[in-house]
Amino acid sequence: TRTLAIVLGDQLDQASPLFDDWDPQRDVVWMAEVAEESTHVWSHQARIALFLSAMRHFRDSQRTAGRRVDYRELPTKSDRRTRVGSEETLSAALGDALERLRPEHVRVVLPGDWRVLEALRATTETAGHELEVLDDPHFYTTPADFARHAKGRKQLRLEYFYRELRKRFDVLMEEGSPAGGDWNYDQDNRGAFDKKRGPQAIPERCGFPPDKITRAVLDLVAERFADHPGELDHFDWPVTVADARHALDDFIEHRLARFGDYQDAMWTDEPWLYHSHLSTSLNLKLLSPREVVEAAVEAWHRGRAPLNAVEGFVRQILGWREYVRGIYWNYMPGYLDRNELGADQPLPDFYWTGETEMQCLRHSIGQTLRYGYAHHIQRLMVTGLFAMMLGVAPRRVHEWYLAVYVDAVEWVELPNTLGMSQHGDGGLMASKPYAATGKYVQRMSNYCGSCRYDPAQAIGDTACPFTTLYWDFLARHRDRLAANPRMSLQVKNLERKAADEVAAIRRQAEKLRQQLAEGSAG
Ligand code: FAD
Ligand code: SF4
Repeated sequence: TRTLAIVLGDQLDQASPLFDDWDPQRDVVWMAEVAEESTHVWSHQARIALFLSAMRHFRDSQRTAGRRVDYRELPTKSDRRTRVGSEETLSAALGDALERLRPEHVRVVLPGDWRVLEALRATTETAGHELEVLDDPHFYTTPADFARHAKGRKQLRLEYFYRELRKRFDVLMEEGSPAGGDWNYDQDNRGAFDKKRGPQAIPERCGFPPDKITRAVLDLVAERFADHPGELDHFDWPVTVADARHALDDFIEHRLARFGDYQDAMWTDEPWLYHSHLSTSLNLKLLSPREVVEAAVEAWHRGRAPLNAVEGFVRQILGWREYVRGIYWNYMPGYLDRNELGADQPLPDFYWTGETEMQCLRHSIGQTLRYGYAHHIQRLMVTGLFAMMLGVAPRRVHEWYLAVYVDAVEWVELPNTLGMSQHGDGGLMASKPYAATGKYVQRMSNYCGSCRYDPAQAIGDTACPFTTLYWDFLARHRDRLAANPRMSLQVKNLERKAADEVAAIRRQAEKLRQQLAEGSAG
C-alpha cells in the first residue's frame, strides 16, 4: 500500500483532500467502527446510529467510485463470539491496519477532536510512521487563520471575526458594504409566537425513513448499546449526500423565510420549528458550509426569503460555526479543564430522564432524549442556563451535551457548552454570562403556562427555580460581575433588593442545590 487515508466518522467528505492525487491501485481508504467512540462519553443511541449509518453509506459510495476501502464493522453480539479484540479502540484498530497494510504514508484530515488526533499520532508513531495531518477545506477558515485573528486582541468577539469573513469570502456584500447597509438584523429577529394563536402551520419536517443499511445499524445499536440514553424509534436523519441536499432544499423553500423571526422561540411539542436541522449533515460533512450559505443567499436574491432571515442564518454558519472551531483549536487542550466560576455541583439526575416538574426542562430534555435534537435557545437558555446558575461543574455539563445531541462533535460542542453557555472560560468566547430569570423563558415560550412554578417568584413553594437561581448567581458572583460593564444593570437590580430578601433567596437556592445533588428534587 502506498497511502493509507484515514477517514473518521465525521469526515464523510466526498471532496476530501485525501483523494487528491489518488492512485486506485496503491491507495486505501481506512475506516473503522469502534466501540470507544460511543462510550468514551455516554452517547445517545441515535447519535451512534447516525454516525455508523452515514459511515457505511460513505464506504459504499467510495467503493462505487472505484476506491479500495478497508472497513471494520462493529460486530454484533453473535459476531463477537468469533471476533473480539481490536474493535474496541481506534488506536487498536489502526495499529492492526498498519500492520496488515504496511503503508508508505499515513494521512488524515484534521480530526474534530483533540483526543482523537493525539491517539492517531501516538499509534502511527509507535508503528514507525509519520502521520500527515491535512487542513480541512470543508471549513471556510483554518485554525491558523483564527490564531492570526486572535493574536494581540484583548477580547475575542464573534462580530469582528464574522465581519472579516463576510468581506473575505464576499458573502452578502454589495460594493464593499454589507447588503442592506447593516451587518446584523437581530433587532428584526428573535420574536416569540403569539401566546394565544401559537405557532401557525409550521411546515412538516422532511425526514428520511431508514433504508436497509440504516435498519441494520439500528438493530446493532439496539443490541449493543441498549443501556445508552435516548430513543431510536424516530430515527430519520439524513445519512447520505443526496438526503442532506434534499433536507437543505426543503429548508430553503419552506422554513428559511421565517428562520429569523422565530429563531429564539420555543413551544411545547414543537421541536423543529423554523430551524434547518442541518447541523448533523454539516458536521458529518455530507454538506459543505459553502453550499448551504450559497443556497440561502441565492434564496434572498430570488425573493424567497428576507434579508433578516438570510443574514441571521448565514451568521450561524459563516460566523458562529467557524468562530467556535477557531476557539477550540486555539485553546485546546487546556480549554477542556477551564472552570473560571469554580462550579462544582453534580449534574441533576433529571438531565438523563426529563423527569422534572420544571416544564421548560421537561420538554427540552424530553425531546432531546426522543430525537437527539433541541434548538439553540433550548440548549443555551434552558438546559445550559439552569446548569450554569445551579453551579454544575462545566466538565459534567460538557459530557452531557456531547452525549445527547446527534450533532455533537467536540470542536463545536465544547466551546458552545463550556464557553458560551457555562461561562467556564471567564468570558473568552462570550462577553457576559447568559443569566436570566424564568421571565425570559416565559417571554420566549409557552412552557410556563403549564408549569407549577411562577417565573415572577424567587422565594416560596411556587418560586420558579430559574428565578431563585438567577438572583443567587448574581449574589454569588457579584464582585466578578460588577466589573463587567455588560452586567452592571443586572448587578444594580440585585443591589436594589433588601438584604433579607437576598438572604432568603440564597437559602432557597442552597436548599434546591442540596436536594438536586441528593436526587431528592426535580
Ligand atoms: P439552525 O438553528 O438551523 O442553525 C443553522 C446552522 O448554524 C446549524 O446547523 C449549525 O451548523 C450552525 N450553528 C448555529 N448556531 C451555532 C453555534 N452556536 N455554534 C456553531 N454552529 C452553529 N452545534 C453543533 O453542531 N453541535 C453541537 O454539539 C452543539 N452543541 C451545543 C451546545 C450548547 C450548550 C449550545 C448552546 C449550542 C450548541 N450547538 C451545537 C449550536 C447549535 O445549538 C446547534 O448547531 C443547532 O441547534 C443545530 O440545529 P439546526 O441545525 O436546526 O440549527
Ligand atoms: Fe421553567 Fe420556571 Fe417557566 Fe416553570 S415557571 S417552565 S421552571 S421558567
